This record gives sequence, structure tokens and C-alpha cells, in this order.
Amino acid sequence: MTAAGPAAEPPFGPLPQSTAVSEVHWGAAKIERLAVQRCDQCQRYVFNPATTCPYCLSADLTWRTSSGRGVIHTMTTVHRTPTPGVGTPYVVAVIELEEGWYMLSNIIDCPPERVSIGMPVTVTFWPAAPGIGLPLFKPATEVSS
Ligand SMILES: [Zn+2]
Repeated sequence: MTAAGPAAEPPFGPLPQSTAVSEVHWGAAKIERLAVQRCDQCQRYVFNPATTCPYCLSADLTWRTSSGRGVIHTMTTVHRTPTPGVGTPYVVAVIELEEGWYMLSNIIDCPPERVSIGMPVTVTFWPAAPGIGLPLFKPATEVSS
């Protein structure tokens, strides 16, 4: 059992492994940009990184930079983590980015009990390891603890 209270740093499990499909996303994250693909045929955003559009099966996907601004679409607070050594509690959330796409991430810089659905958030990049910037989200406005 870990100590009560907000985790001192973001919850890290296994770090992401860049692949041929996701290397643009992770390369952008290194320089603190949130990269997402958009289909040139149906104009929908595609995330997670893919080789074909899941909506129309086109392979015409173009990388774009997201504003990184959005709202919490849904969330949960994890009190018992399946990953040994990860501090709890922490918040896992689906973020609805303002361009209309969704991303699973963590909410940081906010006590878990103050995080809520609909809360405006903005991306921040956590240097989890050399060469790895993890896109996490924090409240768009200051939240008192
Ligand atoms: Zn498409």
C-alpha cells in the first residue's frame, strides 16, 4: 500500500516504445508538441497513430499539431494500481481535444478530488526519461488544493 494523498509525480508504468507508426507523435512530444493524424479523405482526426483511417480506410493521413487544449470527457481516480511502485491516487482521463478527437492520458497538477468531467485542460509534457516527453494534461486554470 502506498501513502495516501496525491502522487508526487505522474504515475509511470512502462514507458512508451516508439514504432514506425507512432514515431512522429513521439518525436513531436520531445519538442513539446502534440501531434495527431488527420485523414485527407474524410477529414476526421485519427488517434492512436495508424497506417489507415479507421473511418474510411484511406491511407492518406497527414500529421498536424493539436492546440493541446480540451476538456475532460470522462475520468476515473485510481486508488489501487496494478503497477507496483506507482504512487496513488492518480487520475486517468479521456480528453476531448478542441479539434474533436480523444486521447487517454493522466491529469496532473490537480488534487484528484478536484478533477471533474467537463474541466478545461491543457497538455503538458513530462520528461519521463531522456528523449521521452509524455503528453499529460493539467487544468487550464489554476486549481487550489
Ligand atoms: Zn478517413
